[in-house]
Amino acid sequence: MRIHRTFEASITNPRQVSDDLDQLGRAASKLWNVGRYYAQEQWDETGEIPDDGELKSELKGHERYTDLHSQSSQRVLEELAEAFNGWFTKRRNGDSRARPPGYRKRGDSHPRSTVSFKAAGFKQDAQFTRVRLSKGRNLKEHRSDFVLCEYELRPDVDLSEWDIQQVRTVHKYDEWRLHFVCRKSIDPDPPGDETAGIDLGISNVAALSFGGESILFPGNALKEDEYYFGRKKAKCDDSRSNERLRLDRKRTERRTHFLHTLSKHIVSECVERDVGTIVIGDLGGIRDDDTGESRNWGKHGNLDLHGWAFDRFTSMLEYKAEAEGIDLTVESERDTSKTCSACETKDGTQRVERGLYVCEECDTVANADVNGAENIRRKVTPSPSEDRSNGWLAQPTVHLFDRNEGRFAPREQVVDCKP
Ligand SMILES: [Zn+2]
Repeated sequence: MRIHRTFEASITNPRQVSDDLDQLGRAASKLWNVGRYYAQEQWDETGEIPDDGELKSELKGHERYTDLHSQSSQRVLEELAEAFNGWFTKRRNGDSRARPPGYRKRGDSHPRSTVSFKAAGFKQDAQFTRVRLSKGRNLKEHRSDFVLCEYELRPDVDLSEWDIQQVRTVHKYDEWRLHFVCRKSIDPDPPGDETAGIDLGISNVAALSFGGESILFPGNALKEDEYYFGRKKAKCDDSRSNERLRLDRKRTERRTHFLHTLSKHIVSECVERDVGTIVIGDLGGIRDDDTGESRNWGKHGNLDLHGWAFDRFTSMLEYKAEAEGIDLTVESERDTSKTCSACETKDGTQRVERGLYVCEECDTVANADVNGAENIRRKVTPSPSEDRSNGWLAQPTVHLFDRNEGRFAPREQVVDCKP
């Protein structure tokens, strides 16, 4: 099995390389515009948009093409062709508001586009954590002119375990960063053949059911961050937009860290319990809906409620599970919140009150999110025998995010003694 990852690194010698990277990034925008202009001409003349092959062969003699390494220039034109294709697809699907890709220009200047360096365009020096990026003939001041970036990765990332396919220079948050696009082959055995179900939500970010045991992950840490950063931002007046930007960035980093930690934690809980398959609820058309209209998120509420997209979490979980040999299956969430996971009744006589699911048919009381997670799990694994106790449905273990430790840990269980 082949797995892919992109690792982001910060550049530790920005003063030495920023001007060069600016020049390359702007050159990529100019080449994009050259390609865009050529495509327009062809379109007006023939009614057809050239594909990436034609763009490359027609423009490879162009001065702007030779600003960048040939592979980098090819990639810019491929991106342009992909952008046109994306637009066609949207139009074909009836999205009349979709627009063709535009020119990359801001007033008289050009934005700093991402530049990709494929195998022949970069040379990594792992020992000194440097990478050498090639310029095009046109921008070289002498034969062996290149950009030598020194970088720093997250401490847990070891690039020597990977084949680096591409290096990208990405301008964001007002600075240049490197993306290492990597791949490697692994073949892990699954930990076992148990199945776990996951229900994603707002108040509990995730409910995890192993069928007989369940864990809840409340979203407190996310909520606290929303509140904290919301207040901080409200205090900034308009003259301090840099401060706002910094706060947004900080909040995004914290959220990403939370989601990474959560997905890692869930996978390790699954490994411990011999899980070979994780079933996760499909949030219905999130990826397919490209009209940009507000979507029906049902019980999940607004996409922006936590400011994070559930599908991003699913993909984080998927690659972490994959690395342990665990399959991730996405199943429709239809009826999973209405059905009783103990007796499978879904006639609408069940109630959900204060997070509890109560079944009139079999008298089961369950945590509503655990009930959902168990129903999702059942989509892949058949029901257990009927005489099995289902008390666990009402008594999930709660794992909370500990900000100081940066990890999830079980909270002392508060047992409700009332009958
Ligand atoms: Zn029931």
